[in-house]
Amino acid sequence: MKIAVIGAGFTGCLLANFLDSPDIEVSIFEKSRGCGGRASTKQTDWGQCDLGASIVHAQKADFIDFMQGLCDQKLASKWPKNIFVSQHNTLTNQTLENFISEKVHYVFNSKMNAVCRHWIKNTKLYTNNLISQIRYVDDKGWQLKSNEVWHAEWFDKVVLTAPWPQTQVIIEQSELQMILPESSQSWTSCWSIGIKLEHPEKLDIPDIDLVYLKAQSIQMLIRDSAKPLRPLPLESTGHSEIWVAQLDNKLSDELGKQGKEKAVSVATEGICELFNIPEKSVSNIYAHYWGFAKPGDDQKSLGILSQQKRGLYVGGDWSFGASIESAFEAALTISHSIITDE
Ligand SMILES: Cc1cc2nc3c(=O)[nH]c(=O)nc-3n(C[C@H](O)[C@H](O)[C@H](O)COP(=O)(O)OP(=O)(O)OC[C@H]3O[C@@H](n4cnc5c(N)ncnc54)[C@H](O)[C@@H]3O)c2cc1C
Repeated sequence: MKIAVIGAGFTGCLLANFLDSPDIEVSIFEKSRGCGGRASTKQTDWGQCDLGASIVHAQKADFIDFMQGLCDQKLASKWPKNIFVSQHNTLTNQTLENFISEKVHYVFNSKMNAVCRHWIKNTKLYTNNLISQIRYVDDKGWQLKSNEVWHAEWFDKVVLTAPWPQTQVIIEQSELQMILPESSQSWTSCWSIGIKLEHPEKLDIPDIDLVYLKAQSIQMLIRDSAKPLRPLPLESTGHSEIWVAQLDNKLSDELGKQGKEKAVSVATEGICELFNIPEKSVSNIYAHYWGFAKPGDDQKSLGILSQQKRGLYVGGDWSFGASIESAFEAALTISHSIITDE
């Protein structure tokens, strides 16, 4: 059986992993240069940082078991030990409280998207392939239009895993006559900023790796270079470390893609204020804007959509939530449907 998967994010790569068998040939079509999607890592000339998903929160037993299996294979680790939260609405003179969570926290070793390569080792990956349309022809199957040209190959089944707003465009362009969910889903953006600090040993930064900030311009700060098996920051004359600041989603929507300068100043001023450190400690910055970061907090999950008879499946993290755990659930549900034909 030949299956085409659109999107090499966690849903697409996990799906290829779950379907990996001698009878199934999976091909993934990805619009960007590599795999990982919204859990991608940026390699800069001064070091790397996870600018998308930064940690994995695992809640359900099957996902905790799955993550534990990856820890046993040395592909993931439990991290961080302590999570802090700030409930105040100002960054100065903060008392950070320990955050007690019923979820188990993990990260992938070396970089967040490294595990995707592992999952798709037996899969054909076509990068720089933006799929704009798909079509079904009786007795032949599915065909994909990539970069405005119909791909020569035919597939028995096709799975769309891009963020819902992008998937919806493909469905509409393809005139699939699929029953779409009654409620639409509106998505929110996120500015994610990698920040390199020089000589942190002189700065008296508290022993903290992750802080959630409630109702502030930064929603999360993470000591990225302290994650397991991260390479040392490059071009350092002495000690240095890399932090990632994720700005509040509402603020990111207001700033938009053009608001890079403001986003960078919010992030740098914020980290310096929170830890009471001088701005000259910041030596390098990289900013990335995620236009479709996640469905808004009050949005309903859309579930998996399908045209089972023709072998068309549609799903992603948005089917069950807005996290790596929900991407896992989507991949598991679709693979089960394909394998059992139910
Ligand atoms: C800033 C940020 C921080 C986050 N933090 C966390 C966190 O700490 N923990 C957590 O669990 N989750 C977090 N998330 C959410 C997490 O990243 C996602 O839930 C997960 O990565 C979704 O995976 P996916 O495969 O469903 O979608 P995606 O990762 O979006 O993958 C879809 C893929 O499809 C590709 N694509 C899109 N359109 C096309 C097309 N037309 N043709 C071909 N390819 C296409 C995209 O390039 C992408 O690679 C965060 C997200 C962001 C943006």
